[in-house]
Amino acid sequence: MSDVAFESLTPAEWFRRNKEIAGFSSPSRAMYQTVRELIENALDATENHGILPSIKASIRYVDKDKDLYSIYVEDNGIGIPEEEIPNVFGQIFYSSKYKIKQHRGIFGLGAKMVVLYAQSTSGMPVRVTSSMKGSQYIYTYEISIDTVKNKPVIHSHVRVENKYGWHGTAVKVVLEGNWQYAKSRIEEYFTRTAMITPYAEIILIEPNNEVLRFNRITTIMPKPPVEGLPHPSSIDLESLKQLISRNSDIPLIDFLKENFDGIGDETVREFMKTVGIRASKHVKRLSESELRLLAEKMRQFNGWRRPRADWLSPIGEKILANGILHVLKPEAVFVTTRKPSSYSGHPFIVEAAIAWGGSIMPVDKPILYRYANKVPLLQDEGSDVIRHVIDEVDWSQYKVKFPAPLAVVVHVCSTKIPYASAGKEAIADVPEIEKEVRLAVREVARKLKVYLARKEKEQELLTKYAI
Ligand code: ADP
Ligand code: MG
Repeated sequence: MSDVAFESLTPAEWFRRNKEIAGFSSPSRAMYQTVRELIENALDATENHGILPSIKASIRYVDKDKDLYSIYVEDNGIGIPEEEIPNVFGQIFYSSKYKIKQHRGIFGLGAKMVVLYAQSTSGMPVRVTSSMKGSQYIYTYEISIDTVKNKPVIHSHVRVENKYGWHGTAVKVVLEGNWQYAKSRIEEYFTRTAMITPYAEIILIEPNNEVLRFNRITTIMPKPPVEGLPHPSSIDLESLKQLISRNSDIPLIDFLKENFDGIGDETVREFMKTVGIRASKHVKRLSESELRLLAEKMRQFNGWRRPRADWLSPIGEKILANGILHVLKPEAVFVTTRKPSSYSGHPFIVEAAIAWGGSIMPVDKPILYRYANKVPLLQDEGSDVIRHVIDEVDWSQYKVKFPAPLAVVVHVCSTKIPYASAGKEAIADVPEIEKEVRLAVREVARKLKVYLARKEKEQELLTKYAI
């Protein structure tokens, strides 16, 4: 008999054993990651649905000797349907965001990692209270995850009447943490979030009752993204097969027009010429080699229209400038939102800002604030494409002499951010993105140069007349 035993793990069990991959590598890191995942969900549930976010978070000691803390995050978002709550918090890879649309969440993993980490350190289930707009009840569940089955375990489920029309979601977990180490990173996360969401009201109550509060300073919000179709150049063989199996058996030409973004009559005719498969052939009758050919040609064809950017929701120049002025309090700020671009069929937009002077302390190299789909990135700066671009800039060309009071903000939004890891802390080196980041930073750097030149001149005049 062989002494090799094989077994299969459910995703829940796999992630329970490999928490660090999703950012839960130590008590302090896990605390930060928990806050981050819950805030991301709260913001997605509000601003992506046109609701001005009001978010209340608190972190409290539960047992100081054992380093147990409770983390609570409440939002005024769209809420979660009652029957979905167990799956949403208790089954890995369960999400409403596997769509072609810009979200903070992407993996269907965050909330579950929080529950898994909490139950493996404190043994306590998550408590989720929610109500949807117009719902008659407010419902509360206590849930843990059966990792062997990748299924939720419901510990309790109660309902009360929704007398005042509240809608939103409140999540509370108890977990092992380390506030001393996590404090500055969590505060930084809130501050950086507030910087690009001046339309949100965000409050954090800390374990020692200190309060970090960001008021809403504008009611103008970015336009929420709409849900889109895949771009033909982003398709692989497997996704093509899946799409066909979900469709009825229609002619290839109609299938292409109905299921992909930006395929008009003329484009599809041009494209069909390059494939050599009959346009009227029904999709379910395509052979394996025809499918492979089709997928390949779809990726290679140069005549597609650019992917549409309606699936994206950039911050916008005005909101970004407002947020930066409010949080960093610089003397001047220069902002740009670039035109949409794309890589491998995924649309993306780069936004950049430079803040100068005022409350910004002079530094030896620019302070960098990185964002991906409106999520601040705090870790792994060294492996981020944005850092690489910033390091290459010759600032003396722009009249900057270090030490200088200079901060650079870069936001990349896309239907698919190429993260370097599941912890979502760095954007991978994609040439198209790198190029756009470079152009965006140069654009704002030129505006800074004009500003600094004007200031220099004014200074000269002042000195002249002062004599
Ligand atoms: P992801 O955010 O990547 O989808 P999560 O595990 O963090 O994965 O969340 C799973 C799903 O739960 C989300 O797609 C969303 O539908 C729902 N959800 C989680 N938190 C909230 C919230 N605060 N308000 C509304 N829906 C939520
Ligand atoms: Mg999430």
